[in-house]
Amino acid sequence: MILSAKNLVTRVGKDLGLSEDDIEYLLKIDKEHVFEIDLGNGRTHKAYRVQHNNLRGPYKGGIRLHPAVDLDEVRALSILMTLKTAAIGLPLGGGKGGVAIDPRDLSEEDLERLSRAYVEHMHPHIGPDTDIPAPDVNTNAKIIDWMVEEYENITGDNSKASFTGKSIENGGSLGREAATGRGGMLALAEYLRLVGKDPKELTIAVQGVGNVGFFFTKYAQEELGSRVVAISDSQRTLLVKDFQNNKTFLSVEGFDKSKRGLIDDLADEHVEFLDRDAILNQPVDVLVLAALGDVVVKDNAFDIKASIILELANGPVDDFAFKALKDDKVIIPDIIANSGGVIVSYLEWLQNRAGEKWSAQEVDENLKIYMSKAVRSMYDYAKQKDIPLKEAALALAITRLLESRKS
Ligand code: NAD
Repeated sequence: MILSAKNLVTRVGKDLGLSEDDIEYLLKIDKEHVFEIDLGNGRTHKAYRVQHNNLRGPYKGGIRLHPAVDLDEVRALSILMTLKTAAIGLPLGGGKGGVAIDPRDLSEEDLERLSRAYVEHMHPHIGPDTDIPAPDVNTNAKIIDWMVEEYENITGDNSKASFTGKSIENGGSLGREAATGRGGMLALAEYLRLVGKDPKELTIAVQGVGNVGFFFTKYAQEELGSRVVAISDSQRTLLVKDFQNNKTFLSVEGFDKSKRGLIDDLADEHVEFLDRDAILNQPVDVLVLAALGDVVVKDNAFDIKASIILELANGPVDDFAFKALKDDKVIIPDIIANSGGVIVSYLEWLQNRAGEKWSAQEVDENLKIYMSKAVRSMYDYAKQKDIPLKEAALALAITRLLESRKS
């Protein structure tokens, strides 16, 4: 993984005519914190925080709890965070953290001890102006609330701005839960506006209807009036029958919070079930990838019929498939399309700093402003240089980082 983050920066850096020194500078990691968390009875777990780059503002990035977490992964993810915050134009840098553990193996008490121990070790190196961690895979508002409390107890800083992704009662922002899916919908909407396409005329297939895919589906139907005609989960694909002749919308009723991620409850006479990967080759206008990385690869890239691919998972189109598809399809890249979460994290931090609490409407409006602007800059740059959107987003990020280096 560290290789692919490095490859991305090196490839786009070379296209931009950067020197070896500039590329090396962009990949250089500022600080790595590697430590162990001891939960007693011989249970020690490797913990990490990698602070890649703070040229544009405090380090920003989640803390993930997963058995596969290792230093290489955290390094690569921290580089991607720097690129993401710069591509969107936020005044933030990039970092990432993690603990190599499966939280499902822990009691509630041990999970709390682990969260507090992480902060006990990291507190001198994080803070509202230094490094602002957030949730990631297997971390949630409850865990972040424990971390914030521990940070407050040790440092006396009660601004709440040291972490984002807090519960609403504890200084979190409205709109955070839906932010990535909603941001994806806004990214698509802005792209369609720029190319003069009407979202109401589009059919959409969504791979993965967990947090991100669920909210994308909901808002694409409710606010854009697009027809989501196929969705999938880890077991199968659900397709609206004969959707090309039929105006039926996929119902998102009953597909609420408790059932999110599962599609069985949507069965009725208007839909049929297909195998899991059938989602990828439906004859729709837009394919939304909201499940996992590396799902579009050499073996299936040429089966995709959609002309627009929206990357909401991280890296769902692998390098081979990207090269194979870049001339025929529009790929709206992950570093912009799935950045709604980090944008609303930034809005949470702004609210904490100002001692304010914004309404859901204010948060949504601001999310729209940041996302639309990021898509426009990427689109204009891509057009001007005649390059794919993904290369444009990366080139913009790299250019902004180097400008900050000089100033
Ligand atoms: P989630 O766990 O809530 O949902 C994942 C969904 O994908 C589930 O519906 C699951 O059934 C489905 N799925 C799993 N394997 C599948 C497969 N092989 N084929 C089809 N569907 C499959 O996760 P999420 O929070 O919605 O995140 C989805 C993706 O977006 C992840 O790659 C994540 O890293 C990325 N992402 C999430 C956020 C965020 O704010 N949640 C932000 C940026 C990127």
